Amino acid sequence: MNLKDYFEKARKENFAIGAFNVDNLDIFKAICSAAQKKRSPVMVEFSPGEVGYFGLDNIVDLVANARDFYQIPILLNLDHARKVEDCVAAIESANSDPGSEMKLRSRIDRARFDLVHFDGSELEIAENISECKKVVEAAHAKGVLVEGEIDRISGTSEVHSEEIDLAVVKNSYTDPQRAAEFVAETGVDIFAAIFGNVHGTFPIQPDLDFDLLGKIRLALPNTFLSLHGGSGIPADQVKEAIKVGKIVKVNVNTELRIAFRDAISEKMQESPEEVTYYKLTPDVVESVMAVVEGKIDVFGSAGRI
Ligand SMILES: [Zn+2]
Repeated sequence: MNLKDYFEKARKENFAIGAFNVDNLDIFKAICSAAQKKRSPVMVEFSPGEVGYFGLDNIVDLVANARDFYQIPILLNLDHARKVEDCVAAIESANSDPGSEMKLRSRIDRARFDLVHFDGSELEIAENISECKKVVEAAHAKGVLVEGEIDRISGTSEVHSEEIDLAVVKNSYTDPQRAAEFVAETGVDIFAAIFGNVHGTFPIQPDLDFDLLGKIRLALPNTFLSLHGGSGIPADQVKEAIKVGKIVKVNVNTELRIAFRDAISEKMQESPEEVTYYKLTPDVVESVMAVVEGKIDVFGSAGRI
């Protein structure tokens, strides 16, 4: 099954696949281990910042090894890439030319990016469309899916102590008609809908607007929908969004980073003499795993391999 098959299965069976950002190797292990334990398909995703940390080629190899090791569907996404060339680099890294040396390796499938998310939301709509079309053309030629976005999602993937400006958030909501035009023009496979979701966590999270989500769903009958900013949204609202919007992918970043930061700080305080990093990490991986397992339960993806 490829990513499209998984998205179709998710839409039909009313669950969503968790798309978890990989900030470091411990978080990567935690995501894969949690998904394996839950027998859940899972998406690992890397923002351009995270790609800068790991290196694109390392990511592809890391995922290839993980697919062998964990024996579960591990899907790979480039998250929020603002440049066409970053998307193309990821798409090209998916190239498994049968004549290449990769054939010499024992793997049946070389890992590849399954999805690239072109985030042109900071551009004027006409430029967003023209840039996004370039990504779609390059991606579809290699069997890679594309996610598009037109509304700038509020916040950044971190813990915010300031109150969120609800007027600004409301301004960023997706207009169903504009979304339909964007999808028709670009041919993106999945669309990042904004209906009260924000990046990061805030003291008071805005409620999701399910009326609007229903309208977006109707306006885009043949397009998969994603929910960004999956951290901090109450579980019942996420479940409702999956139901109302037939959302197939929920992005989670901040909650994993918080769990990692808290767990590693605690370990370092407990063992101030320890200088071997990997000896500190088993409990840290467990802590992040618990968050991922909880999300998988909310998204309903356990046992859907
Ligand atoms: Zn996002």
